[in-house]
Amino acid sequence: MSAKTDDEKIRCDACPVMCFISDGRAGACDRYANHGGVLVRLDPLTVIEGGGPMVPFLGREWDGDIVQGDRPIVDGPIVEGPIVNGPMRNGPFVTAIGAGTTYPDYKPAPFIVSQMVGDADMITVVTEGIFSYCGVKVKIDTDRHIGEERAIVRVDGEAIGHVMTGEYGSKMLSLGGVDHLTGGTKKEGRVTCDALLALCNCEAVEMTIDDGVTLIVQAGRAPVIDGVPEKLMRVGCGSAAIGMFAQQWVAHVDEVVVVDDHITGVLTEHEAGKQLAMRPAGIRVTGRRSTPGRYFQVANPGTGWGGTDVTDPLTIIKSVDPKIAWPGLRLLMISTTGEQSAYFVLDGDLSPQPGEIPAPLRAIAERIADNCEPSLCSVLFMGGAGGSLRAGVTENPVGLTRSVKDALTRVTVGGAEAYVWPGGGITVMADVTRMPSNAFGYVPTPALVAPIEFTLRREDYAALGGHMDRIRPVEDVLTPAIRRLPRGAK
Ligand code: SF4
Repeated sequence: MSAKTDDEKIRCDACPVMCFISDGRAGACDRYANHGGVLVRLDPLTVIEGGGPMVPFLGREWDGDIVQGDRPIVDGPIVEGPIVNGPMRNGPFVTAIGAGTTYPDYKPAPFIVSQMVGDADMITVVTEGIFSYCGVKVKIDTDRHIGEERAIVRVDGEAIGHVMTGEYGSKMLSLGGVDHLTGGTKKEGRVTCDALLALCNCEAVEMTIDDGVTLIVQAGRAPVIDGVPEKLMRVGCGSAAIGMFAQQWVAHVDEVVVVDDHITGVLTEHEAGKQLAMRPAGIRVTGRRSTPGRYFQVANPGTGWGGTDVTDPLTIIKSVDPKIAWPGLRLLMISTTGEQSAYFVLDGDLSPQPGEIPAPLRAIAERIADNCEPSLCSVLFMGGAGGSLRAGVTENPVGLTRSVKDALTRVTVGGAEAYVWPGGGITVMADVTRMPSNAFGYVPTPALVAPIEFTLRREDYAALGGHMDRIRPVEDVLTPAIRRLPRGAK
């Protein structure tokens, strides 16, 4: 790992930077240091103690970080979430956090650990991978318009990624990747690496979107859009909201328009209104009709009602049909989160006049808001482990790839479940909030350093050409120097 030089500096060869480190100093990445002539890894190896479910229901009492990392407590309503299993081991699970790297990858992984799990003799190979091909996918729960698809996302003026296709109730960003890390200027690479590192370690990052908004993104926290923290994710599109609440509205109102940038719903035209035998109301909205009661593009995208630029809902009323509508008609206009609503009654000229929203309709608006989940930012680390890193696991790298594809080898990132993409390579995605705190590091090449663990049966490890002579029993690595994370501990 190190070589002494004439002036007693140590050369670290844990990454291509090859720092010369004086006694008492750390290298450029602050991960390695020279302690009295010995090169040491500054972060202790992290072991997760205990098996079983590692991530609790959000609503249950929870006082530790384990694989949740330093996930912040969500402001606002608490929702019940699924139990997600951690490494599913009985006994300690050796993560790769603090393990060190295999660079330049001709040597076995820093820790190859054996452990009995029930009757199975399991091997876990841990290493901190240096990922120049990596990035994050960010899901931002909001309907607000943050910028056009393909718009550039910047930090400190540098391009670090772009806006992807929106998903149901959320906006998506693709940040990082090799083009920004290494394909642009030195500053672009450094800023991108810094932003990725902060996001992966659950820190807040402020970014701007070309011709769009300013955003603060932090994994597990509500997004802050143009200085305003987002509160709720929509209950559904306008059409879905009509479907969900039609039955409750029908006794209290003659028409409901659910304003939404995706699909604006008009209750009496909608199939739900028809099935409930509602009388047509003759209220026509702007936009392009998709199917009866479902309208696209009623307004421009924006940060107003339902992700549109609407601040006055009457602006999307195109006309009132005098042959169908009637004086006294009761009209409710509402957004997809229930946060905005307005009530009107048609006067003798069939002109909508604002009125006090009746209590039953207010209660339904509150129920819509109650049904909305808290708006959060989700950050998934994405990296490719199908390269030279495999040599740390096996003499026959493709053997690891095949073993992962055959589901014989389980891949985790800092103990967190990783999704392995189909197709070639070992391309993984993992939720950064399910990892212990500060699981990620960096090297100035620039690249992220991410923990990765491969777990498989001993016989399968032998079959793929594993470094069998480097296997150590787990007890061997459980020295007082390691960082143990018992359940409930920080
Ligand atoms: S940047 Fe870090 S890992 Fe790379 S050579 Fe320097 S001290 Fe070692």
